[in-house]
Amino acid sequence: MRAALLSVGTELLLGEITNTNVVYLSRELNMMGIDVMYHYTVGDNPKRLAEMIEMAFKDCDLIITTGGLGPTQDDMTKEIACQVMGDELEMRKDLLEELKKRMLAYKSHMTENNLKQAEMPKRAFVFHNDAGTAPGFALGRTVTGEEGGEKTQSIACMPGPPREMKRMFEKSLRPWLESMSDGVLYFRELRVFGIGESDLETRLLPLIDGQTDPTIATYAKSGECSVRVASKRPTREEAERAVNEMIAEVDKIIGDSIYSYDNQEIANVVGEKLKEKGLTIACAESCTGGMFASALTDIPGISACFDRGIVTYSNRAKVEELGVKQETLDAFGAVSEETALEMAKGVRRVSGTDIGISVTGIAGPDGGTPEKPVGLVYIGLDFDGQTECRKIDRRIKERNRNRQYAMLSMFDMLNRKLNDR
Ligand code: ATP
Repeated sequence: MRAALLSVGTELLLGEITNTNVVYLSRELNMMGIDVMYHYTVGDNPKRLAEMIEMAFKDCDLIITTGGLGPTQDDMTKEIACQVMGDELEMRKDLLEELKKRMLAYKSHMTENNLKQAEMPKRAFVFHNDAGTAPGFALGRTVTGEEGGEKTQSIACMPGPPREMKRMFEKSLRPWLESMSDGVLYFRELRVFGIGESDLETRLLPLIDGQTDPTIATYAKSGECSVRVASKRPTREEAERAVNEMIAEVDKIIGDSIYSYDNQEIANVVGEKLKEKGLTIACAESCTGGMFASALTDIPGISACFDRGIVTYSNRAKVEELGVKQETLDAFGAVSEETALEMAKGVRRVSGTDIGISVTGIAGPDGGTPEKPVGLVYIGLDFDGQTECRKIDRRIKERNRNRQYAMLSMFDMLNRKLNDR
């Protein structure tokens, strides 16, 4: 299926809001095996909206719109979609009742223009809106193709607010699309740390090349990568088997760097292992300024394991809070293996946990020297008195990327250590 996404709303063209709907929908549709060919954006203008729908249908058989389903004058997606698809609007009593109930629940007064939200194209398949007042819908038409045969084109319209749109997609549009599809798509997303995207693709090329099913796609995320393995087969069992067989092949090549086989964040993977093994942890952070502690405390129930996180940014703080020796700082500097290890040991000592982990580095963009360039980071780990240090030297100037990578590396180091236990 070839799809186009059409975002409706003048505020998008004015740059007042970021189009997060297309990011979400593109990803979800691609994962379902639907090829998203185009992203279009149009303002609240009926003529241009109608023209754009016709234009999108020239090369696609499915258009998904978001926005313009509200009750006001400038909301006209439903009216235009209905007109282009050759249908007529009718007042739907069931939708009117639903709308009245919802307005009552919101304690809102029903105005004349609200009524138009209960109108629907006669042939529409309605998507109920659990999170707002505007229902969505899908509508088809049959047209003559270039070779003279008949073909079906469909338009699916959803509200603009991302929360409403996502709920509707999950509850109604996804099942509707699946019901139109001729097979079952199954996929798994593997998360990888420590291999760059181009290296990852090169290493997986023997598997990727010439593959039509299962398909393997690599994606770069911030500081890490993911690999999606997908298969579309007549039954879920067949698709699942094909995907798992391919994952076994992927595993042979990059297994050492895969930290999740079901799209989990690395902080979650580590957090769950800490809980499972009943281990306690404390951290001392410098260049990441608390990012590690923040990611860890996102995990519900982590209080059983996480004792404290100390941000020791200055040398004085490293000495006072963690007992790092002044001589160590003088001899090796704050960004050094020796300091990182003393920080890890220090935080473990003051907190009495099983694990102490530390990070110290030069996040940039300035502050580097030829000996200690921007991007240089040391991570110290004290696990039950056994210590080790990881050095990162990526020569990247961007502060945020360095900090993010350092934080993920802390989790990666811990994850590998926990796997060995
Ligand atoms: P409403 O009933 O709220 O009017 P609607 O379907 O008419 O819903 P719009 O009026 O087009 O939707 O958009 C409402 C709000 O939803 C926008 O002001 C914006 O905050 C958000 N929104 C709309 N489209 C997008 C988009 N593509 N990406 C992110 N947010 C969006």
